[in-house]
Amino acid sequence: MGSLDLDPAESIDFSNPLNPEEFRKQAHQMVDFIADYYTKIESFPVLPQVQPGYLRTRLPHSPPHRPEPLQEIFNDITTHIIPGMTHWLSPNFFAFFPATASTAAFLGEMLCTCFNSVGFNWLASPAATELEMVVMDWLASMLNLPNTFMFSGTGGGVIQNTTSESILVTLIAARDKAMQLLGPDCVKRLVVYGSDQTHSTFTKASKLAGIHPPNIRSIPTTDDSGFALSPALFRKFAEADVAAGLVPLYLCATVGTTSTTAVDPVDLLADVASDYNIWIHVDAAYGGSACICPEFRHYLNGIERVDSLSLSPHKWLLSYLDCCCLWVKRPHLLVSALSTNPEYLRNRLSDSNSVVDYKDWQIGTGRRFKSLRLWLVLRSYGTANLQSHIRSDVQMAKMFEGFVNSDPRFEIVAPRRFALVCFRIKPNSLVEPSYTESLNRALLEWVNSRGNAYMSHTVVGGMYMLRFAVGATLTEDRHVVAAWKLIKEGADACIA
Ligand SMILES: *Cc1c(COP(=O)(O)O)cnc(C)c1O
Repeated sequence: MGSLDLDPAESIDFSNPLNPEEFRKQAHQMVDFIADYYTKIESFPVLPQVQPGYLRTRLPHSPPHRPEPLQEIFNDITTHIIPGMTHWLSPNFFAFFPATASTAAFLGEMLCTCFNSVGFNWLASPAATELEMVVMDWLASMLNLPNTFMFSGTGGGVIQNTTSESILVTLIAARDKAMQLLGPDCVKRLVVYGSDQTHSTFTKASKLAGIHPPNIRSIPTTDDSGFALSPALFRKFAEADVAAGLVPLYLCATVGTTSTTAVDPVDLLADVASDYNIWIHVDAAYGGSACICPEFRHYLNGIERVDSLSLSPHKWLLSYLDCCCLWVKRPHLLVSALSTNPEYLRNRLSDSNSVVDYKDWQIGTGRRFKSLRLWLVLRSYGTANLQSHIRSDVQMAKMFEGFVNSDPRFEIVAPRRFALVCFRIKPNSLVEPSYTESLNRALLEWVNSRGNAYMSHTVVGGMYMLRFAVGATLTEDRHVVAAWKLIKEGADACIA
């Protein structure tokens, strides 16, 4: 960084804050800065070595009264901001699920920001609404979803910010439908279901929708089923709830759980749900993207029987945060739960119900023109390249899995389905289980403190395990090889 050729005294001209020539000049410099960052990203520790509060002590207590030169701002980014960042785009980032990015999505993001369109209803930006409808249908067809989820059929899709919002809006649609049938007092009898592997945001969404513990069921999973939700157990829970006078409402099933990428059996769960008239939402935030490849599509078997599905292209389909795609079979249920109709937004088309007003499919009113990003990704790369991107990540994860299997000190502890490998240093029959856990904790600490790789951990079925998630866009074989070498060195140091 710092290679920018700027006049040191120059600040951004303010005579018109969006002067096109000034914009051209400054934005080119920013593009250079960004390209330099991507070039040098590997030289930064992937996990920063700063203490809480570090930045406050380095920056002034109040904003400047007079303009400051851009060069000084760039300098501060280089000296103060970048050293305090966790570099999510680093090829050495293997923690959580990586956040993917791409040139095409970046260009789409630039356009989205450029227009600053606030497309709350159709008339507020017809192209924004209609492109989103087209792109959601495109992605649905790439996933081979039935046309009951498409605008060209009887359903439709919308871009939410996060999975949390996708769960919340569908849960509210399901709740309001129940309330219409059973009256407003039924809410305290409504029960929602997930497994003990369902993302924690499900509990948050349930509470936001007015459904609180103990009416939030967390159905236990086990090792034998690879931590997938058991349909038989789901049936038992629903049966018992009905017997107790409660009303089963909503199941959040997961295709690719956050801890270990377990896949709940959607088809079999749908058998139970249809007996009890339960809304099924499938959360495929991470794993769903893989289903654009025919060899992974079976994980969505039964999807034609569910009510809603969400997946986040920002997790694996080369899109920037935030982009969560939600499809629903019955858009009118979302709309009847979430629509607003203030006089100042009224227009003939909305009044005649002849257009999609996306404000009625989401929590907020204003919304960005985010479909541009996905449109650029899908058009610029095509399905073929996106499929090879998924396959190449899976291939690298398989390679890592092979490394783990080749070292007798380690073991794989959950089936690898996508590009996440869950593993640990093996327990030794001579030592306590708690020693195995502390050994693995020490290894994680050792690896992450080097700055050359970042992994995370989880606890499933009481077992502490390490998670190695391949998927940062810049990651190549050599980064995975180097990370494994580092992990082995860590094991040498910790086991000794
Ligand atoms: C990442 C993840 C989430 C959380 O997604 P947000 O978009 O951050 O709300 C939910 N579910 C699963 C399965 C995930 O992997």
